[in-house]
Amino acid sequence: ITQPDLSIFETLESEVRSYCRNWPTVFDRSRGSYLYDEDGHTYLDFFMGAGSLNYGHNNPVLKRALLDYLERDGITHGLDMSTTAKRAFLETFRDVVLSPRDMDHKVMFPGPTGANAVEAALKLARKVKGRESIVSFTNGFHGMSLGALAVTGNAFKRAGAGIPLVHGTPMPFDDYLDGQTPDFIWFERLLQDAGSGLNQPAAVIVETVQGEGGVNVARPEWLRGLAELCRRHDMLLIVDDIQMGCGRTGAFFSFEESGIVPDIITLSKSISGYGMPMSLTLFRPELDVWEPGEHNGTFRGNNPAFVTASATLNTYWADGQMEKQTLSRGEQIESALRALAVEHAHAGASYRGRGLVWGLTFDEADRARRVCQRAFELGMLVETSGPQSEVVKLLPALTATPEELDEGLRVLTRAVRET
Ligand code: PLP
Repeated sequence: ITQPDLSIFETLESEVRSYCRNWPTVFDRSRGSYLYDEDGHTYLDFFMGAGSLNYGHNNPVLKRALLDYLERDGITHGLDMSTTAKRAFLETFRDVVLSPRDMDHKVMFPGPTGANAVEAALKLARKVKGRESIVSFTNGFHGMSLGALAVTGNAFKRAGAGIPLVHGTPMPFDDYLDGQTPDFIWFERLLQDAGSGLNQPAAVIVETVQGEGGVNVARPEWLRGLAELCRRHDMLLIVDDIQMGCGRTGAFFSFEESGIVPDIITLSKSISGYGMPMSLTLFRPELDVWEPGEHNGTFRGNNPAFVTASATLNTYWADGQMEKQTLSRGEQIESALRALAVEHAHAGASYRGRGLVWGLTFDEADRARRVCQRAFELGMLVETSGPQSEVVKLLPALTATPEELDEGLRVLTRAVRET
Protein backbone atom coordinates (compact mmCIF):
# COMPACT_ATOMS: atom_id res chain seq x y z
CA ILE A 1 0.00 0.00 0.00
CA THR A 2 1.40 3.41 -0.96
CA GLN A 3 1.67 5.95 1.84
CA PRO A 4 -0.41 9.06 1.06
CA ASP A 5 1.62 12.27 0.77
CA LEU A 6 0.35 14.29 3.72
CA SER A 7 3.49 16.40 4.19
CA ILE A 8 2.08 19.81 3.17
CA PHE A 9 -0.86 19.36 5.56
CA GLU A 10 1.49 18.39 8.37
CA THR A 11 4.00 21.19 7.81
CA LEU A 12 1.94 24.15 6.57
CA GLU A 13 -1.60 23.62 7.85
CA SER A 14 -2.40 24.64 11.42
CA GLU A 15 -2.45 22.07 14.19
CA VAL A 16 -6.17 22.81 14.59
CA ARG A 17 -6.96 20.60 11.56
CA SER A 18 -8.93 17.54 12.62
CA TYR A 19 -10.53 15.49 9.83
CA CYS A 20 -7.10 15.45 8.18
CA ARG A 21 -5.93 13.42 11.15
CA ASN A 22 -8.99 11.17 11.50
CA TRP A 23 -8.81 10.12 7.88
CA PRO A 24 -5.14 10.16 6.88
CA THR A 25 -5.50 9.99 3.13
CA VAL A 26 -5.90 12.51 0.32
CA PHE A 27 -9.41 12.51 -1.13
CA ASP A 28 -9.84 13.32 -4.77
CA ARG A 29 -13.32 12.53 -6.12
CA SER A 30 -16.76 11.78 -4.80
CA ARG A 31 -20.10 10.62 -6.13
CA GLY A 32 -23.30 9.61 -4.38
CA SER A 33 -22.44 7.78 -1.16
CA TYR A 34 -18.76 7.28 -2.01
CA LEU A 35 -15.46 9.16 -1.90
CA TYR A 36 -12.28 8.10 -3.68
CA ASP A 37 -8.75 8.98 -2.62
CA GLU A 38 -5.91 9.78 -4.99
CA ASP A 39 -4.57 6.24 -4.63
CA GLY A 40 -7.84 4.77 -5.87
CA HIS A 41 -9.31 3.54 -2.57
CA THR A 42 -13.07 3.78 -2.16
CA TYR A 43 -14.80 4.98 1.01
CA LEU A 44 -18.48 4.62 1.80
CA ASP A 45 -19.58 7.91 3.37
CA PHE A 46 -21.71 7.79 6.52
CA PHE A 47 -20.54 11.27 7.53
CA MET A 48 -21.74 13.30 4.54
CA GLY A 49 -19.91 16.51 5.24
CA ALA A 50 -21.28 16.57 8.81
CA GLY A 51 -24.77 16.62 7.36
CA SER A 52 -24.18 19.12 4.55
CA LEU A 53 -24.54 16.56 1.75
CA ASN A 54 -27.97 15.06 2.40
CA TYR A 55 -28.44 14.31 -1.30
CA GLY A 56 -25.06 12.66 -1.84
CA HIS A 57 -21.84 13.85 -3.43
CA ASN A 58 -22.07 15.43 -6.88
CA ASN A 59 -25.73 14.54 -7.18
CA PRO A 60 -26.23 14.34 -10.98
CA VAL A 61 -29.50 16.34 -11.07
CA LEU A 62 -28.02 19.17 -9.02
CA LYS A 63 -24.74 19.07 -10.92
CA ARG A 64 -26.63 19.46 -14.21
CA ALA A 65 -28.51 22.49 -12.85
CA LEU A 66 -25.24 24.04 -11.66
CA LEU A 67 -23.36 23.38 -14.90
CA ASP A 68 -26.21 24.82 -17.00
CA TYR A 69 -26.18 27.95 -14.85
CA LEU A 70 -22.40 28.40 -15.06
CA GLU A 71 -22.35 27.67 -18.80
CA ARG A 72 -24.74 30.55 -19.42
CA ASP A 73 -22.54 32.85 -17.30
CA GLY A 74 -25.08 33.15 -14.50
CA ILE A 75 -24.17 35.59 -11.72
CA THR A 76 -21.70 33.91 -9.34
CA HIS A 77 -21.35 36.62 -6.75
CA GLY A 78 -24.14 39.01 -6.02
CA LEU A 79 -23.99 40.15 -2.38
CA ASP A 80 -27.69 40.53 -1.65
CA MET A 81 -28.62 42.02 -5.02
CA SER A 82 -31.82 40.87 -6.68
CA THR A 83 -30.91 38.15 -9.16
CA THR A 84 -32.89 35.66 -11.19
CA ALA A 85 -31.29 32.79 -9.20
CA LYS A 86 -32.29 34.34 -5.89
CA ARG A 87 -35.81 35.05 -7.11
CA ALA A 88 -36.22 31.46 -8.25
CA PHE A 89 -34.95 30.20 -4.89
CA LEU A 90 -37.28 32.46 -2.87
CA GLU A 91 -40.27 31.46 -4.97
CA THR A 92 -39.39 27.78 -4.67
CA PHE A 93 -38.77 28.03 -0.93
CA ARG A 94 -42.13 29.74 -0.47
CA ASP A 95 -44.03 27.26 -2.65
CA VAL A 96 -42.34 24.02 -1.57
CA VAL A 97 -41.36 24.68 2.05
CA LEU A 98 -43.24 27.56 3.68
CA SER A 99 -46.74 27.66 2.16
CA PRO A 100 -47.54 23.93 2.48
CA ARG A 101 -46.68 24.23 6.19
CA ASP A 102 -48.74 27.40 6.68
CA MET A 103 -45.60 29.28 7.65
CA ASP A 104 -45.29 32.99 6.88
CA HIS A 105 -41.70 33.43 8.09
CA LYS A 106 -39.51 35.99 6.37
CA VAL A 107 -36.26 34.75 4.82
CA MET A 108 -32.93 36.40 5.51
CA PHE A 109 -29.53 35.53 4.08
CA PRO A 110 -27.15 36.14 6.99
CA GLY A 111 -23.87 34.91 5.43
CA PRO A 112 -22.32 31.71 4.16
CA THR A 113 -22.17 29.44 7.21
CA GLY A 114 -24.29 28.02 9.98
CA ALA A 115 -22.58 30.22 12.57
CA ASN A 116 -23.67 33.28 10.53
CA ALA A 117 -27.29 32.13 10.74
CA VAL A 118 -27.02 31.60 14.51
CA GLU A 119 -25.35 34.98 15.08
CA ALA A 120 -28.15 36.66 13.15
CA ALA A 121 -30.79 34.77 15.16
CA LEU A 122 -29.24 35.75 18.49
CA LYS A 123 -28.69 39.37 17.47
CA LEU A 124 -32.22 39.71 16.16
CA ALA A 125 -33.74 38.24 19.35
CA ARG A 126 -31.74 40.69 21.48
CA LYS A 127 -32.75 43.60 19.26
CA VAL A 128 -36.44 42.70 19.28
CA LYS A 129 -36.63 42.12 23.04
CA GLY A 130 -34.07 44.73 24.10
CA ARG A 131 -32.66 42.15 26.48
CA GLU A 132 -29.33 40.43 26.60
CA SER A 133 -29.31 36.84 27.74
CA ILE A 134 -30.18 33.72 25.78
CA VAL A 135 -31.02 30.36 27.35
CA SER A 136 -29.41 27.34 25.75
CA PHE A 137 -28.98 23.66 26.65
CA THR A 138 -26.29 21.38 27.97
CA ASN A 139 -24.43 19.64 25.11
CA GLY A 140 -25.96 21.99 22.54
CA PHE A 141 -23.77 23.10 19.63
CA HIS A 142 -24.40 26.24 17.61
CA GLY A 143 -21.12 27.18 15.92
CA MET A 144 -17.67 28.58 16.59
CA SER A 145 -18.17 32.37 16.46
CA LEU A 146 -18.31 34.24 19.78
CA GLY A 147 -22.09 34.56 20.03
CA ALA A 148 -22.74 31.00 18.89
CA LEU A 149 -20.08 29.68 21.28
CA ALA A 150 -21.64 31.57 24.18
CA VAL A 151 -24.72 29.34 23.78
CA THR A 152 -22.77 26.16 23.05
CA GLY A 153 -22.74 23.63 25.90
CA ASN A 154 -19.26 22.27 25.29
CA ALA A 155 -16.46 23.50 27.55
CA PHE A 156 -13.70 22.34 25.19
CA LYS A 157 -15.09 24.31 22.26
CA ARG A 158 -15.74 27.37 24.45
CA ALA A 159 -12.17 27.22 25.76
CA GLY A 160 -10.98 28.02 22.22
CA ALA A 161 -12.22 31.55 22.87
CA GLY A 162 -9.66 31.92 25.66
CA ILE A 163 -11.84 33.37 28.38
CA PRO A 164 -15.32 32.39 29.51
CA LEU A 165 -18.14 33.63 27.33
CA VAL A 166 -21.01 35.31 29.08
CA HIS A 167 -24.65 36.06 28.16
CA GLY A 168 -25.71 32.41 27.93
CA THR A 169 -27.40 30.25 30.56
CA PRO A 170 -27.42 26.49 29.94
CA MET A 171 -30.39 24.39 31.09
CA PRO A 172 -30.78 20.57 31.11
CA PHE A 173 -31.79 19.19 27.68
CA ASP A 174 -34.84 16.94 27.26
CA ASP A 175 -35.15 16.77 31.04
CA TYR A 176 -37.91 14.57 32.47
CA LEU A 177 -39.36 13.98 35.92
CA ASP A 178 -39.55 10.21 36.57
CA GLY A 179 -39.28 9.61 32.79
CA GLN A 180 -42.91 10.71 32.26
CA THR A 181 -43.34 14.46 32.60
CA PRO A 182 -41.20 17.13 30.94
CA ASP A 183 -39.31 18.86 33.76
CA PHE A 184 -38.81 22.63 33.56
CA ILE A 185 -38.33 23.17 37.29
CA TRP A 186 -34.78 24.54 36.96
CA PHE A 187 -35.82 26.66 34.05
CA GLU A 188 -38.80 28.11 35.95
CA ARG A 189 -36.50 28.91 38.89
CA LEU A 190 -34.08 30.70 36.56
CA LEU A 191 -36.95 32.76 35.16
CA GLN A 192 -38.21 33.63 38.66
CA ASP A 193 -34.74 34.79 39.63
CA ALA A 194 -34.36 36.81 36.44
CA GLY A 195 -37.60 38.68 37.18
CA SER A 196 -39.16 40.84 34.51
CA GLY A 197 -36.35 43.33 33.85
CA LEU A 198 -33.30 43.33 31.64
CA ASN A 199 -32.12 40.07 33.16
CA GLN A 200 -35.06 38.23 31.68
CA PRO A 201 -33.85 36.07 28.79
CA ALA A 202 -34.61 37.37 25.30
CA ALA A 203 -34.76 33.92 23.73
CA VAL A 204 -34.14 30.20 23.99
CA ILE A 205 -32.04 28.37 21.40
CA VAL A 206 -32.41 24.63 20.99
CA GLU A 207 -31.69 21.75 18.61
CA THR A 208 -34.43 19.11 18.37
CA VAL A 209 -31.69 16.48 18.09
CA GLN A 210 -28.26 17.49 19.35
CA GLY A 211 -26.05 16.50 16.43
CA GLU A 212 -22.62 17.41 17.79
CA GLY A 213 -23.68 16.87 21.41
CA GLY A 214 -24.15 13.11 21.00
CA VAL A 215 -27.35 12.50 18.98
CA ASN A 216 -29.58 13.39 21.94
CA VAL A 217 -33.19 13.38 20.79
CA ALA A 218 -35.66 15.81 22.40
CA ARG A 219 -39.06 14.22 22.79
CA PRO A 220 -41.98 16.01 21.12
CA GLU A 221 -43.81 16.73 24.38
CA TRP A 222 -40.67 18.30 25.86
CA LEU A 223 -40.40 20.57 22.81
CA ARG A 224 -44.06 21.49 23.19
CA GLY A 225 -43.46 22.26 26.89
CA LEU A 226 -40.50 24.43 25.94
CA ALA A 227 -42.53 26.34 23.35
CA GLU A 228 -45.25 26.94 25.95
CA LEU A 229 -42.68 28.16 28.50
CA CYS A 230 -41.33 30.62 25.92
CA ARG A 231 -44.82 31.90 25.23
CA ARG A 232 -45.65 32.38 28.91
CA HIS A 233 -42.39 34.18 29.66
CA ASP A 234 -42.17 36.34 26.55
CA MET A 235 -39.03 34.65 25.19
CA LEU A 236 -38.47 33.98 21.51
CA LEU A 237 -37.97 30.34 20.55
CA ILE A 238 -35.07 29.74 18.18
CA VAL A 239 -34.75 26.26 16.69
CA ASP A 240 -31.29 25.68 15.27
CA ASP A 241 -32.10 23.32 12.41
CA ILE A 242 -28.71 23.61 10.76
CA GLN A 243 -27.84 19.91 11.12
CA MET A 244 -31.28 18.32 11.64
CA GLY A 245 -33.28 20.41 9.16
CA CYS A 246 -33.48 19.85 5.39
CA GLY A 247 -34.96 16.41 5.97
CA ARG A 248 -32.42 14.68 8.20
CA THR A 249 -35.06 13.56 10.72
CA GLY A 250 -37.74 12.85 8.12
CA ALA A 251 -39.80 16.03 7.77
CA PHE A 252 -38.18 19.05 6.10
CA PHE A 253 -38.00 20.87 9.46
CA SER A 254 -37.07 18.67 12.41
CA PHE A 255 -39.64 20.35 14.69
CA GLU A 256 -42.60 19.42 12.50
CA GLU A 257 -43.15 16.13 14.32
CA SER A 258 -43.76 18.03 17.58
CA GLY A 259 -46.16 20.51 15.98
CA ILE A 260 -44.32 23.57 17.35
CA VAL A 261 -43.59 26.55 15.10
CA PRO A 262 -40.47 28.44 16.25
CA ASP A 263 -40.23 32.23 16.10
CA ILE A 264 -36.78 31.99 14.52
CA ILE A 265 -35.22 29.09 12.58
CA THR A 266 -31.69 28.63 11.33
CA LEU A 267 -30.84 26.49 8.31
CA SER A 268 -27.54 25.83 6.57
CA LYS A 269 -25.49 22.68 5.80
CA SER A 270 -27.77 20.80 3.34
CA ILE A 271 -29.91 23.74 2.22
CA SER A 272 -27.87 24.18 -1.00
CA GLY A 273 -28.08 20.41 -1.58
CA TYR A 274 -24.63 20.42 -3.15
CA GLY A 275 -22.38 21.18 -0.19
CA MET A 276 -22.04 24.86 -1.04
CA PRO A 277 -21.89 27.55 1.64
CA MET A 278 -25.36 28.95 2.19
CA SER A 279 -27.45 29.72 5.24
CA LEU A 280 -30.85 31.12 6.10
CA THR A 281 -32.33 32.76 9.17
CA LEU A 282 -36.12 32.58 9.07
CA PHE A 283 -38.29 34.62 11.41
CA ARG A 284 -41.88 35.59 12.00
CA PRO A 285 -42.78 38.73 9.98
CA GLU A 286 -43.28 40.86 13.11
CA LEU A 287 -39.60 40.27 13.99
CA ASP A 288 -38.43 41.95 10.78
CA VAL A 289 -37.07 44.98 12.65
CA TRP A 290 -33.60 45.50 11.19
CA GLU A 291 -32.96 48.56 9.05
CA PRO A 292 -31.19 47.91 5.73
CA GLY A 293 -27.50 47.39 6.50
CA GLU A 294 -27.97 46.63 10.18
CA HIS A 295 -26.80 43.11 9.46
CA ASN A 296 -24.81 42.57 6.29
CA GLY A 297 -21.69 40.91 4.89
CA THR A 298 -20.06 40.19 1.55
CA PHE A 299 -21.14 36.60 1.03
CA ARG A 300 -24.88 36.73 1.60
CA GLY A 301 -25.97 35.65 -1.83
CA ASN A 302 -24.31 32.53 -3.15
CA ASN A 303 -26.10 32.44 -6.48
CA PRO A 304 -24.80 29.06 -7.66
CA ALA A 305 -26.00 27.71 -4.29
CA PHE A 306 -29.43 29.27 -4.91
CA VAL A 307 -29.53 27.32 -8.16
CA THR A 308 -28.71 23.96 -6.56
CA ALA A 309 -30.99 24.74 -3.59
CA SER A 310 -33.94 25.39 -5.92
CA ALA A 311 -33.18 22.20 -7.87
CA THR A 312 -32.99 20.27 -4.58
CA LEU A 313 -36.36 21.50 -3.34
CA ASN A 314 -38.02 20.88 -6.70
CA THR A 315 -36.48 17.42 -7.07
CA TYR A 316 -36.83 16.05 -3.55
CA TRP A 317 -39.41 18.07 -1.64
CA ALA A 318 -42.15 19.03 -4.08
CA ASP A 319 -43.92 15.66 -4.02
CA GLY A 320 -43.86 14.73 -0.31
CA GLN A 321 -41.99 11.42 -0.90
CA MET A 322 -38.73 12.28 0.85
CA GLU A 323 -40.11 12.07 4.37
CA LYS A 324 -41.59 8.59 3.87
CA GLN A 325 -38.38 7.29 2.29
CA THR A 326 -36.21 8.72 5.09
CA LEU A 327 -38.37 7.19 7.81
CA SER A 328 -38.33 3.77 6.15
CA ARG A 329 -34.53 3.86 5.64
CA GLY A 330 -34.27 4.97 9.26
CA GLU A 331 -36.12 1.80 10.31
CA GLN A 332 -33.58 -0.23 8.36
CA ILE A 333 -30.76 1.40 10.37
CA GLU A 334 -32.62 1.09 13.66
CA SER A 335 -33.17 -2.64 13.25
CA ALA A 336 -29.46 -3.23 12.51
CA LEU A 337 -28.48 -1.12 15.53
CA ARG A 338 -30.95 -3.04 17.69
CA ALA A 339 -29.23 -6.31 16.72
CA LEU A 340 -25.80 -4.76 17.33
CA ALA A 341 -26.86 -3.50 20.77
CA VAL A 342 -28.14 -6.99 21.72
CA GLU A 343 -24.92 -8.61 20.50
CA HIS A 344 -22.82 -6.13 22.52
CA ALA A 345 -25.09 -5.72 25.52
CA HIS A 346 -22.24 -6.88 27.77
CA ALA A 347 -20.28 -3.79 26.64
CA GLY A 348 -23.24 -1.48 27.39
CA ALA A 349 -24.02 -0.87 23.71
CA SER A 350 -27.04 1.37 23.17
CA TYR A 351 -28.38 3.45 20.31
CA ARG A 352 -30.71 6.36 19.67
CA GLY A 353 -31.81 8.53 16.79
CA ARG A 354 -34.55 9.62 14.42
CA GLY A 355 -34.95 9.53 10.65
CA LEU A 356 -31.45 9.16 9.22
CA VAL A 357 -29.38 10.33 12.19
CA TRP A 358 -28.32 7.65 14.63
CA GLY A 359 -25.87 7.31 17.50
CA LEU A 360 -24.28 4.21 18.98
CA THR A 361 -22.49 4.23 22.36
CA PHE A 362 -20.71 1.82 24.68
CA ASP A 363 -19.84 1.88 28.37
CA GLU A 364 -16.24 2.54 27.47
CA ALA A 365 -16.15 6.11 26.08
CA ASP A 366 -13.11 5.52 23.85
CA ARG A 367 -14.74 2.59 22.04
CA ALA A 368 -16.59 4.94 19.64
CA ARG A 369 -13.34 6.52 18.47
CA ARG A 370 -11.79 3.09 17.89
CA VAL A 371 -14.85 1.93 15.95
CA CYS A 372 -14.62 4.95 13.65
CA GLN A 373 -10.89 4.38 13.13
CA ARG A 374 -11.44 0.70 12.29
CA ALA A 375 -14.32 1.62 9.95
CA PHE A 376 -11.94 3.94 8.08
CA GLU A 377 -9.45 1.09 7.69
CA LEU A 378 -12.32 -0.98 6.30
CA GLY A 379 -13.23 1.76 3.81
CA MET A 380 -15.96 3.75 5.51
CA LEU A 381 -16.19 7.31 6.85
CA VAL A 382 -18.09 7.69 10.10
CA GLU A 383 -17.47 10.14 12.92
CA THR A 384 -17.86 10.43 16.66
CA SER A 385 -20.00 12.93 18.47
CA GLY A 386 -20.70 13.86 22.10
CA PRO A 387 -18.70 15.73 24.76
CA GLN A 388 -16.21 12.88 25.11
CA SER A 389 -16.50 11.71 21.49
CA GLU A 390 -18.29 8.73 23.02
CA VAL A 391 -20.97 8.30 20.33
CA VAL A 392 -20.57 6.83 16.84
CA LYS A 393 -22.75 9.12 14.73
CA LEU A 394 -24.31 7.78 11.53
CA LEU A 395 -25.29 10.40 8.94
CA PRO A 396 -25.71 8.59 5.61
CA ALA A 397 -27.07 10.45 2.58
CA LEU A 398 -30.88 10.66 2.52
CA THR A 399 -30.50 9.36 -1.03
CA ALA A 400 -28.40 6.33 -0.02
CA THR A 401 -29.93 3.13 -1.40
CA PRO A 402 -31.02 0.31 0.95
CA GLU A 403 -28.05 -1.68 -0.39
CA GLU A 404 -25.60 1.12 0.50
CA LEU A 405 -27.11 1.34 3.97
CA ASP A 406 -26.75 -2.44 4.37
CA GLU A 407 -23.14 -2.23 3.24
CA GLY A 408 -22.40 0.50 5.81
CA LEU A 409 -24.16 -1.42 8.57
CA ARG A 410 -22.13 -4.52 7.73
CA VAL A 411 -18.87 -2.54 7.93
CA LEU A 412 -20.00 -0.95 11.19
CA THR A 413 -20.90 -4.35 12.68
CA ARG A 414 -17.49 -5.70 11.71
CA ALA A 415 -15.72 -2.60 13.11
CA VAL A 416 -17.55 -3.02 16.43
CA ARG A 417 -16.65 -6.72 16.58
CA GLU A 418 -13.00 -5.95 15.89
CA THR A 419 -12.49 -3.20 18.48
N1 PLP B 1 -25.62 24.69 14.57
C1 PLP B 1 -25.64 23.36 14.51
C2 PLP B 1 -26.77 22.61 15.09
C3 PLP B 1 -24.56 22.67 13.91
O1 PLP B 1 -24.57 21.34 13.87
C4 PLP B 1 -23.51 23.43 13.35
C5 PLP B 1 -22.36 22.74 12.74
O2 PLP B 1 -22.09 21.58 12.96
C6 PLP B 1 -23.56 24.83 13.42
C7 PLP B 1 -24.63 25.43 14.04
C8 PLP B 1 -22.45 25.67 12.86
O3 PLP B 1 -22.45 25.64 11.48
P1 PLP B 1 -21.12 26.06 10.70
O4 PLP B 1 -20.09 25.04 11.03
O5 PLP B 1 -21.51 26.04 9.25
O6 PLP B 1 -20.76 27.43 11.17
